[in-house]
This record gives sequence, C-alpha cells and structure tokens, in this order.
Amino acid sequence: MASSSFPPELDEITTCPICFEEFTSPKLLDCPHSFCLKCLQGHCRYKPLGAKAQCPLCRMEFVIPSNGPEGLRPNLVLQNLIEAKRKARAEPCEVCSTDEQFVRATVFCMDCSQRLCESCSLPHKRWGGGAHDVKPLGDVQAFNSEGKLAFVLVITMVSLGQQRAWHG
Ligand SMILES: [Zn+2]
Ligand SMILES: [Zn+2]
Ligand SMILES: [Zn+2]
Ligand SMILES: [Zn+2]
Repeated sequence: MASSSFPPELDEITTCPICFEEFTSPKLLDCPHSFCLKCLQGHCRYKPLGAKAQCPLCRMEFVIPSNGPEGLRPNLVLQNLIEAKRKARAEPCEVCSTDEQFVRATVFCMDCSQRLCESCSLPHKRWGGGAHDVKPLGDVQAFNSEGKLAFVLVITMVSLGQQRAWHG
C-alpha cells in the first residue's frame, strides 16, 4: 500500500541534526551534511560574512557566502523528499475527512476533480451514467518513481557523512 512506501529511515534523514525537526530550507555544505537555513544562520551568527565556519557535525570548514547562509547551495534532493512526504501525508479525502478525522485520500476522480479515499471512490467507479475516471493519486506515484531515486541518493550522502564523522 502507498502508506507503507515511506521507509522508516526517511524520518531520520529528513530531520535536521541541529533542531531535530523536519528540515526547513535545507542547505548543503561542502561535506555531505545539511542543515536548516535558520539553524545555519544561528550557527554562524557570530561570524563575519565571507569567513570560514565549521560543519556542526564533522567540523569540515565551509565559507559563509557574502549574503550569509542563504547563499549556500540548497539541498534539492532533501527538499524534494520533504515535499513528497508532506504531500503524501497531507492528502485528505475531500468527502469524508473532517477537522476531527483525517481520512487519507488514495485516488483522484478526474470527473469530479476530487481526492477520495478508497470507500468514497466506490460510487464513482460504478456511477449509473458510466464510471468516472478514477486514478491513483499522482503525488504518491511521483514519490514512488522519482522519490525512490532521491531516497537512494540521500542514503548515500548520509552514510558517507557518518563515516567521515566517525573516522574524522
Ligand atoms: Zn534545523
Ligand atoms: Zn559535515
Ligand atoms: Zn472518504
Ligand atoms: Zn467522480
């Protein structure tokens, strides 16, 4: 099922080692480590722009760009993973989800332009005037095809980083 398509490591990978929350605007340093923009801003706050700072994990030096940590490379892989995770997690069935109860949508009805859970989609699949065009949710599919690749990349980056941290 789609809900099990998130490996448990994904939560770990998308968690910033400084604030222990899900990354916001993850920035990639010269080493394979990434941190939230806000966390790096905090980490570099006593350093002049253009000066060298050290990675909080492995202490590899990096230069603070002239416009501050904002100018560091964004970690797009991580950003995409987090977005895919958010989307897949935040698709409620538009028919039966309420503020109190979150029912995850699994399909999209093309005819009604509605996200639906499995049971709400049943009538659409056997409508009197012809079945509606009901498709599995695109975001979930996108995650399975592209997200998996991104996931492998991140795993590689993270394990590289851990090795350096252990032996460095
Ligand atoms: Zn952070
Ligand atoms: Zn590092
Ligand atoms: Zn529903
Ligand atoms: Zn429909």
